[in-house]
Amino acid sequence: MPERVTEDWCFSHGRVEPDDENTYRVCLECSHVFQTEADLIRDHNAELAEVRVRQPGAPVLPDATSGEEIWTCPHCIHDF
Ligand SMILES: [Zn+2]
Repeated sequence: MPERVTEDWCFSHGRVEPDDENTYRVCLECSHVFQTEADLIRDHNAELAEVRVRQPGAPVLPDATSGEEIWTCPHCIHDF
């Protein structure tokens, strides 16, 4: 971790993640940068797949096909 935490610091991954005008979404809690909508959908669906493995039979949302369906950060679970 750098000596001073900057606003680009992602607390979910422990690294600097710069965003720019083309960034799709930034989590306001952990500051993870989803550079594209596809990045968000991939990480969200990966988390759902992990839940299906960890908790077989538990009710799990279907995979998202659009970023508009995703309301929480897949890394820190905070609402967007
Ligand atoms: Zn987050």
